[in-house]
Amino acid sequence: MDREVLLRRARAQLTLLRVRAGGVCQAVIVPGGPLWLGSHWVDRRQVLCCAGSAEACMLCGESASRVTGFVLVMVSQLNGSQVTPFQQKRLMLLELSPLSWSGFEMSARFEGLDACGPILADISRKGARSPLRIECVSAVDGCSQVDVLVRALVDAVAVLFGLPLVNDAETAEQWRDRVAPVVARLAAVKAATLPR
Ligand SMILES: [Zn+2]
Repeated sequence: MDREVLLRRARAQLTLLRVRAGGVCQAVIVPGGPLWLGSHWVDRRQVLCCAGSAEACMLCGESASRVTGFVLVMVSQLNGSQVTPFQQKRLMLLELSPLSWSGFEMSARFEGLDACGPILADISRKGARSPLRIECVSAVDGCSQVDVLVRALVDAVAVLFGLPLVNDAETAEQWRDRVAPVVARLAAVKAATLPR
């Protein structure tokens, strides 16, 4: 990879927001998501599934695939543990299940909020294995253009899974089609390591 691409990838990288069991995290759910992807869990690692594309997925016969969504979240951070008047906002990546997302949409509808706009939400998890619970708190104004946010989301997911970044003027769907052969190759490599 040339220097330019490496720099772009470094800039696109976002940390996954971890919500610990029993904890609550307040964050703004950023418009433009979720980006839904199929994936397999193999050897405690998440490997993307290319089923539904023109490529064959070598892991589909080996393990069950599930659908995972990714959204961008804006998290307010206090400096250190001290409460200071200066709050930093940090863009992070949140992984969620379709069940968690439909709960969020239902919560938005209940509060009379537009789930497509930026919404401040309480994100919690009861147990280590229970799904995220995303409850709307209020609408938030001021957000970048949605197409910019979608590109940031796709790029962050691309970096997370070692896939090429989105091209200029490419939609999320076009990116998905273009990277399907790469996803298929990564799945095939993983499948080849499985015991026969
Ligand atoms: Zn698969």
